[in-house]
Amino acid sequence: MTANITSLVHVVRNAKRITVLTGAGVSAASGIPTFRGADGLWHRYRAEQLATPESFERDPKLVWEWYDWRRQKVATSQPNAAHRVLAAWSQRWPTCRIVTQNVDDLQLRAGTRDLVRLHGSIWEVSCWDRCAASPRYWRHEQVPLEELPPRCPHCGGLARPAVVWFGESLDPADVDAAQEAATTCSLFVSAGTSAVVYPAAAFLHEAKRHGATTAEINLEATPASDVVDMVVQGRAEEVLEQIEAALACGAS
Ligand code: NAD
Repeated sequence: MTANITSLVHVVRNAKRITVLTGAGVSAASGIPTFRGADGLWHRYRAEQLATPESFERDPKLVWEWYDWRRQKVATSQPNAAHRVLAAWSQRWPTCRIVTQNVDDLQLRAGTRDLVRLHGSIWEVSCWDRCAASPRYWRHEQVPLEELPPRCPHCGGLARPAVVWFGESLDPADVDAAQEAATTCSLFVSAGTSAVVYPAAAFLHEAKRHGATTAEINLEATPASDVVDMVVQGRAEEVLEQIEAALACGAS
């Protein structure tokens, strides 16, 4: 165990209230590509070129082909050790909150309690035209999709993934929940996120401003690395598993 992990074990053990913000990196070990990693390209497109309302307006079939491909990856993947450890923390410590930017549902499948999902779920869709007859969103778990792009069953218009795209607003209730988790915790951990997508990236700063100890677990340096009190460079699934093992055996 590195000195940095040992320090993090110590603060985890002594924290009154922990909040963990997760990003695509915690699902990488489950085989789900991140947006900004080397495997972030789909065909010749970058995620930033596809995950926007403008792209959907221009070419809904292309955007849905990309989501169909991602949904197939998620459908065949399993939660990894990072998801399992964080789920265990959320169950063991009632004040521990997990806030995720991921849309893959793996943290839910691992059993995370009270998960805050800032960007929605890849398994939910909504009516592109927000027709009056349709609910805000509904589950649509067919993999692969038979019809591309899928249709709104209420008006026959286009359905869209009910996820938050670049340039769109988050659900205020989710922002409030994340804000509360960030401003009331004594330890804030940013894990597997490039820390460049706002407003999610702002919660670390909020936590710090409110006096929390802050830590980052990531393979690489990010803009958060210079801000946090502790940087643990490594794979989230390995680092979290080591922390969990040390907590279990009483080492610090
Ligand atoms: P990102 O792709 O921008 O960054 C991923 C980060 O994870 C990078 O900093 C990388 O160094 C790090 N990383 C990669 N493998 C890791 C590992 N094993 N352990 C620790 N760190 C690792 O992802 P982000 O910051 O979450 O970007 C935000 C957007 O990406 C969000 O809107 C989110 O909805 C979306 N997204 C979600 C998924 C998913 O649901 N699994 C996948 C890709 C992108």
